[in-house]
Amino acid sequence: MSQVEIPGRVKQKIDIVTPLPGPMSAALQSLSEDYEPATFAHGQVPFGFRRGSGVFVEDVDGNTFLDFTSGVLVANIGHGRKRVMDKVAQMARDQEITNSYNYLNPYRPALARLLMETIPDYCADLKTGKAFILTTGSETVEWSMSMALRHQWKTGHPEKNRVVAFEGAFHGRTAGARHAGGIDGVTEGYGLDVPDITHIPFPDLYRPAKHADGRPYTLQDYIAGIQKIDGASTAAVIFETYQGAAGSRMFPAEYLQALAAWCRRNGVLLIVDEGQASFGRTGRFYAFEHYEIQPDLLCLGKGISGSVPLAAVISRRDIVASQGGMSSTWGGNILSSAVALETIKILIEEKLTENAAKVGAYMARRFKALEGRHAILGETRQMGLVGGLEIVTDRASKTPNPKAAERIVTGCYRKGLLLIEPIGLGGNVIRVAPPLVVTEEQAEVGIDILDRAMAEAEG
Ligand code: PMP
Repeated sequence: MSQVEIPGRVKQKIDIVTPLPGPMSAALQSLSEDYEPATFAHGQVPFGFRRGSGVFVEDVDGNTFLDFTSGVLVANIGHGRKRVMDKVAQMARDQEITNSYNYLNPYRPALARLLMETIPDYCADLKTGKAFILTTGSETVEWSMSMALRHQWKTGHPEKNRVVAFEGAFHGRTAGARHAGGIDGVTEGYGLDVPDITHIPFPDLYRPAKHADGRPYTLQDYIAGIQKIDGASTAAVIFETYQGAAGSRMFPAEYLQALAAWCRRNGVLLIVDEGQASFGRTGRFYAFEHYEIQPDLLCLGKGISGSVPLAAVISRRDIVASQGGMSSTWGGNILSSAVALETIKILIEEKLTENAAKVGAYMARRFKALEGRHAILGETRQMGLVGGLEIVTDRASKTPNPKAAERIVTGCYRKGLLLIEPIGLGGNVIRVAPPLVVTEEQAEVGIDILDRAMAEAEG
């Protein structure tokens, strides 16, 4: 597949040639600690990114790692793809790299059309809508909530003036997106909700909420909770198709279908935030397709453009018609739009969604087998090529074990497998998300390393 076509000298195998971290990575780490806010790279393994090719990434010291992060879920088409690199080189050579959102560029409207073509036919209302090209995931969340509120107001429902979101959600770190999130550490101390946002429980069946008498919530209890939302004052419900930061938590299908039906009955708009879930990641082009639901507004980012900043809101046409001015300085920048176009074409032409489904199914089977072998592996969750490994003290109590999770990530790094620091509300979930060009053989190499690192963390 793609590996053959990728040029350059990035090795197509793990190769650790210095003690870790290498001297250049260590120097970068200390430079960052001195001059950058303490949450970008801090807390992560000290990996100084130099370049990448396919599923392999090379650090500034010349060490080659197998990448199970996709650069935080962006490199769906793999790193350093020749077609993308050639396009950027051509644009630089021909002095095409300019920016003005006031004027047209040859790529942005073409990208909007291609995006609309990727919307599944069964979503008739969305498919006949429009694509608003922006720059970051947080921006798409701000816009989608604003667009929903404005549409309700404009169509005679000013009383529908609040948004419902989920506990455990992560939607970004700008003011509105931050408060749409349902993670205390992300919202605490940042003032009032703008707009008015109410959170409802995530239907967690692994660690269910408890009734007053101690009985655990069932799926039906969570579904009954939907009916208690005040539809009359609600403009929109926003959710991630799977909860990323909360630890790759998947919604039960029946729950999302019930939520979508409730929204329709109550004139509430459905905002689906697929900032990290689209472009084949879950084994469907869009993750919401697994649930056969129809978003009214769809937030896209990350894998849409891979290596340069771009994001988009896809919206029903009538919702766009309700808006005032819609623009953003970098929205649909010429370079980003050209790269996103190439990226999406590669995804489609190489059938990377199908590969994600196939290799994802293989990885899910392997992880399930590990559940039986490691007492600290509480649950494995997988949808296509995104997964979460719950690291616990023991399977019965399900108590999060962030220390062991941390040891596993560090152990993998030492063996040449790159992972991000544990995620999840208890800081104990290992996220597995290789680029969608990964082969079964490469996945196997990574899983074997994880298996060994887990054994060491237990030992
Ligand atoms: N929504 C989701 C689902 C995300 O995963 C993220 C980023 N992790 C965001 C929104 C925010 O995106 P950005 O960092 O580009 O603002």
